Amino acid sequence: MEQKIDREKVTPMMKQYFEVKDKYQDSILLYRLGDFYEMFFDDAIIASKVLDIALTGRNCGLEERAPMCGVPYHAVDGYVARLIAAGYSAAICEQEEDPKTAKGIVKRDVTRVVTPGTIMDAAALEADKNNYICSIAVADNGLGLAFVDITTGDCFVCEIQGESVNIPLLNEISKYMPREIIMNLRAFEDEKLVGDIKDKTSRTTVRNYFDWAFEYNSAKERVELQFGSLSETELDDKPCSVSAIGGLLLYLEETQKTKIINLKKVEVNRDENNVQLDMYSLRNLEILETLRDRNTKGSLLHSLNKTKTSMGSRLLRKWLTAPLMNCGRICNRHGAVEEMLNAPLIREEICQYLGNISDIERLINRAVYRQADCRDLTSLKLSLMQLPPISNCLANVNSRYLKQCYNTLDTLEDIYEVIETTINPEAPTTLRNGNLIKDGANAEIDRLRNLQTNGQSVLKEIVEREKEKTGIKNLKLGYNRVFGYYVEVTKMYSESVPEYFIRKQTLANAERYITPELKEIEEEVLAASEKVVDMEYELFCQVRDRVGQALHRVKKTAEAIAAVDVICSFAAVAEKRKYVKPEVNMGNKIIIKDGRHPVVEQLDKNGIFIPNDTVLDGDENRVSIITGPNMAGKSTYMRQIALIVLMAQAGSFVPASSAEIGIVDKIFTRVGASDDLSSGQSTFMVEMNEVAYILDNATDRSLAILDEIGRGTSTFDGLGIAWAVVEYMADKKKCGARTMFATHYHELTQLEDKMDGVKNYCVAVKKRGGSISFLRKIIRGGADQSYGVDVAALAGVKKSVVNRAREIVAALEDENGQVQMNGGKVRKLPESIEPQMDFLAVAENPVIDELMELDLNTMTPVEALTKLYALQAKAKNN
Ligand code: ATP
Repeated sequence: MEQKIDREKVTPMMKQYFEVKDKYQDSILLYRLGDFYEMFFDDAIIASKVLDIALTGRNCGLEERAPMCGVPYHAVDGYVARLIAAGYSAAICEQEEDPKTAKGIVKRDVTRVVTPGTIMDAAALEADKNNYICSIAVADNGLGLAFVDITTGDCFVCEIQGESVNIPLLNEISKYMPREIIMNLRAFEDEKLVGDIKDKTSRTTVRNYFDWAFEYNSAKERVELQFGSLSETELDDKPCSVSAIGGLLLYLEETQKTKIINLKKVEVNRDENNVQLDMYSLRNLEILETLRDRNTKGSLLHSLNKTKTSMGSRLLRKWLTAPLMNCGRICNRHGAVEEMLNAPLIREEICQYLGNISDIERLINRAVYRQADCRDLTSLKLSLMQLPPISNCLANVNSRYLKQCYNTLDTLEDIYEVIETTINPEAPTTLRNGNLIKDGANAEIDRLRNLQTNGQSVLKEIVEREKEKTGIKNLKLGYNRVFGYYVEVTKMYSESVPEYFIRKQTLANAERYITPELKEIEEEVLAASEKVVDMEYELFCQVRDRVGQALHRVKKTAEAIAAVDVICSFAAVAEKRKYVKPEVNMGNKIIIKDGRHPVVEQLDKNGIFIPNDTVLDGDENRVSIITGPNMAGKSTYMRQIALIVLMAQAGSFVPASSAEIGIVDKIFTRVGASDDLSSGQSTFMVEMNEVAYILDNATDRSLAILDEIGRGTSTFDGLGIAWAVVEYMADKKKCGARTMFATHYHELTQLEDKMDGVKNYCVAVKKRGGSISFLRKIIRGGADQSYGVDVAALAGVKKSVVNRAREIVAALEDENGQVQMNGGKVRKLPESIEPQMDFLAVAENPVIDELMELDLNTMTPVEALTKLYALQAKAKNN
């Protein structure tokens, strides 16, 4: 729409609007006009819909009025937050001079640009999540990634080298879920990469940013200016990361319209420091959200989160997505949890104080960027009040980690004092209407306030003083429009009038005078309200800046508070759910006694979760092959092992009666079928992609959880793939990762005798009469049969169908109970299971038609069951 506008014809104000808008094409421009921010043309059409406000019009010099909508200035933050939530960016254009005194069009310019990844307004942020903006720079030698959370000052980079950079990139994106991604042109033009990113992220704004911003030399300059030399920041061998963070710094400066003052250090994410959790494991293990509906509730994070502060829940999320690999650091966390577990009273006291702490990490950053209001400072103050008692509680701790927290925790009394002595705790959110400063905080403000409210009595005081001084007993105060306040002296006293009385009017019997003091006070009384508002604002800004200077002290304290919070949360969960301290070492054993699934156990209202043992090591017990019927608990069991390892290395106690964990470097999972139809891949293709990734990346320190590999294709191909994968994983020379492998291919149990390090396990099942029940107990040995038909019966499939299925299975099995293979050719059904006559007799029935067309050889039991459900429903309707 805007291209068609004849700019020569528009009004001068509109001309100015277009000049500004041209520079902010990507954003919705909120243009300040008096008490409103107005939006015009396409921006107005979008905003009126998103914000649900009336679309009106304004004369703009053209034949047609310009579409327009507006929001009141004092409520702008809320509206901007809604635009951002809808994925838009907003450029805020302010009046830069007082309209009363400006000549011609008031000067205006954009003072900040708010984007999804740079918004600082608390209402638009999720308290328990970082709000990351991510920058991607693709170059010849790899890919650089930078993440910044401007609201907390967190900043880190990852360098990804090699040819296949997409998966490691997506792993990082899945972990940190940035709200906004900027990238250089080379990245942006890679359709596959951008497509994959969009698939993994639902609400993320992805945009291309100026290529020159990522150019190495200029990026390097910006990085060094911000963080110090490349060698100090350990970025000297990470050229792509330098480009990424350098580009991002420029973007942030452009949006914030100021230097980026709150980023002090940039961390380099290194593979050797943390367990690598790829996007599949993150998803399959339901660490941050559930697989099915992507809900936080039902995830490991949700189950373990008993933190009291936003900083604590953000840190817990970090710890769970990046468990440690260093035994010493892990043991330090365990030591701290143990200490808090054994000191419930102190812990409870600490938790009470923590419960009163608001998000000081974000509040201080708002102060730094001059976006904090009085309420922010007051809630910062109330939070700081909790620090001395927390420090007291920690004064006598013994564990190394908590001692460190105690030493880092700055009680910040000085900052508390600054706010306490000046800021009115009842102050309104608007900063330009006064009432920000406490009485008694500033003598001049007090005087002006006094004038404002007691103006008349101050004037009367002056008159009384003058009476005494001059002896004019009937001196009278008066006011008129022409010369304001005056004193009136009757003729009788004209001799006593002092020199500094300035005569203004002569009446029949009296004279009216003004005095310099009277004039001064009069002006002050009249100007007091305006002046006091300005002075209060000025003083508030000084206080806010003074508080902002404590950024790094507050940030460090916030980090200590977060750590104490997570430790207390781990201790509380451990106490309530009877978790134990795992022994973590550099060996290769994973030995768990009575392990439980931390989330499933909690969901089980009857409290009958059956614990199970696990033995995995780099030698005799490298690969466990687990067989057993559907629904027996295989997936739950395998996931619980991965989760116990992850929790142990994150610093938590674990749901078991004892656990020895030989440090794991990577956790891989291939669990269940996941359709990735959005990326145009079949279920089987997705499964094989994940398998390929595991085979390429697993080491002998890794833990791999493989559930029903190969089931998405024909029986023989599937079995072949599963067999070969087990062989590869078990082979010490090729991989040797500690592996749990659940399968319905009973043939795989033969591998125990054929390969070193492979052990068979199955889930115990009790067969009573015609039905089975699950014991949920993992025992040594292979399952004697698959019980698929029994599960179908259990699920309520019609008896006649179940019986028929039993006949077919019996006919397909040889005398050893093994299903006969047919070299991939179409299997001819044995005579005994040729289609039943009565089926043919009613062949026109659509249910029968469909049943006849089924290719049972390529169906998994679950698919068969689903189909049976559908057929049954159809049959009932027929
Ligand atoms: P499938 O092969 O069909 O995927 P599965 O053998 O992997 O089945 P799971 O999905 O792990 O079975 O578990 C089936 C159900 O059993 C789950 O709903 C879970 O709640 C319950 N369950 C699993 N393990 C236990 C246990 N140890 N104690 C009690 N209930 C359990």
